[in-house]
Amino acid sequence: MKDDILKDDFIDEIILTREEIAGICEKFGEKLTEEYRGKRPILVGLLKGSIPFMAELMKHIKCETEIDFIQASSYSGVKSKGAVMILKDMITPVKDRHVIIVEDIIDTGLTIQEVMNLFQDRGAKSIEIVTLLDKPAGRTVNTVTPKYIGKTIPNKFVVGFGLDYDELYRNLDYVGVLKEAVYKK
Ligand code: 5GP
Repeated sequence: MKDDILKDDFIDEIILTREEIAGICEKFGEKLTEEYRGKRPILVGLLKGSIPFMAELMKHIKCETEIDFIQASSYSGVKSKGAVMILKDMITPVKDRHVIIVEDIIDTGLTIQEVMNLFQDRGAKSIEIVTLLDKPAGRTVNTVTPKYIGKTIPNKFVVGFGLDYDELYRNLDYVGVLKEAVYKK
């Protein structure tokens, strides 16, 4: 499997295979089912990167759950811009609701921090973070502490399974480190 992926010539190194991602989602699904049974949480995916992760994760949550999406962005190319904008808001009111934010990757923490502040201001009953990947070396806010982390990775730029470079590579069914030659042309 890993050998097949390495045939993609724009990838340096595999971070998570399809099978590893499925295992993570199964494990998280079981834990979330236990924790949220009877609470009817809202899984809120951060667009666009969380879509494949959300789709895989929600299949393993075996209690009543709603889903919605929000789009916030601080990124352009391979660098965070620092300021976060809400580009598309969610539809479901979060007041008095248990919210589970589903994210592809956390780097500086600025995006998720902004979304958490928004949900707090709107009166969410609880807010928890589930992220497929975490890059703690890039963190600039110390208030973001995800409860569920699929894999902690070094400060490298990764693509696939929802993660893009210039809107490409989101459709890969694995996560890998993008070769520098692709963005340092
Ligand atoms: P933060 O606000 O925590 O710095 O960044 C979170 C967002 O930045 C993620 O949702 C993702 O869109 C983008 N991001 C951060 N690190 C990476 C990375 O290594 N690869 C890609 N493709 N996007 C990243």
